Amino acid sequence: MEAASFIPVSEPLIGDNTAALVNECVESGWVSSEGRFIPEFERKFSQFCGAAHGVAVSNGTTALQVAMKTLSLEPGSEVIMPSYTIISCAIAILEADCVPVLVDCDPETWCMDLDQVEAAITPRTRAIMPVHMFGHPVDMRRVMKLAAKHDLRVIEDAAEAHGAEVEGRRVGSFGDMACYSFYANKIVTTGEGGMVVTSSDHYAGRLRSLRNLCFRPERRFYHTEIGHNYRLTNVQAAIGVAQVDRVEDHIRRKRKMAKAYHERLSDLSQITLPVEREWAKNVYWMYCLILADEVPFDAVEFAKRLRAKGIDTRPLFLGMHEQPVLRERGLFAGSSYPVTERLARRGLYVPSGLGLTEAQIDRVSVAVHEVLS
Ligand SMILES: *Cc1c(COP(=O)(O)O)cnc(C)c1O
Repeated sequence: MEAASFIPVSEPLIGDNTAALVNECVESGWVSSEGRFIPEFERKFSQFCGAAHGVAVSNGTTALQVAMKTLSLEPGSEVIMPSYTIISCAIAILEADCVPVLVDCDPETWCMDLDQVEAAITPRTRAIMPVHMFGHPVDMRRVMKLAAKHDLRVIEDAAEAHGAEVEGRRVGSFGDMACYSFYANKIVTTGEGGMVVTSSDHYAGRLRSLRNLCFRPERRFYHTEIGHNYRLTNVQAAIGVAQVDRVEDHIRRKRKMAKAYHERLSDLSQITLPVEREWAKNVYWMYCLILADEVPFDAVEFAKRLRAKGIDTRPLFLGMHEQPVLRERGLFAGSSYPVTERLARRGLYVPSGLGLTEAQIDRVSVAVHEVLS
């Protein structure tokens, strides 16, 4: 197969008006972390999420880090998070001197299992970090009820779910704070970038301070708290402004892609496909396939066979309880999360970029059928 016909897993879609906005930064000299695009991007994106404030940061991981720090939890506080997610969630909790407590995920939505969240609450629990997985939202109605009952804070990780909805209401508007990533493969991209959105004036103020070294407004080089440089640049925000103007189109493209894959792959009993609960709007960040137990090979071999047919794929997350760097710290000893372990070994995602064509979806689908026949 010649290189030209290789289908990559993801490519960003950069709109025509982007270059003009970036050029404005270059020509005006506003290339660093001040300039008109940063507040404009914060305003437009937080409005899109249904939150009062947006605080732009350098990436999705620093968004989670600064959000956790903003809660000012007592050291040793427990924060409930899914076993099945990216390590950024655990890092943010650990760096705030808190203890990550894991729960397994739902085998169909791949989001944290809320029955297990309720069972994991102890007198030391202070917060919950729901992660909207691969575009499917966590049922935030239930999370917020649990949080209210037990007086817990909620930080949503919405890095994979820009615009996903729970009963017609967008994610990012439920929790105390919500964190987004604008990495190149996300639904809105700034190359690298992130944002914390919140409707709390208090949290917004702390987020802004912690993002920028905790300079004090009344006396600049005088510090009473350890901060960070997690600033986003005006150049990145310019790309973000162009992207957020097109986010509805991006979501339409993702949903169209998912429908096209579903039509072509739902006849296969050897794989399970993404679902959409009746109360949810899934934005299908990436289209995942999970191999049934009867298939005599695992996701590594599945990926190898698809690659031989010119189809790029990516493996799914390895659970937090299986991460050597976390186990070395004595975390999660002896624990097992069977759904997470199964996804890590049996799942992958196929090409899902915003510019993916119908012909490419056909080719991927034919290749999947061939590999599984
Ligand atoms: C991408 C992602 C992040 C991290 O974002 P970066 O911008 O890459 O740091 C955090 N959480 C989830 C669920 C993600 O998918």
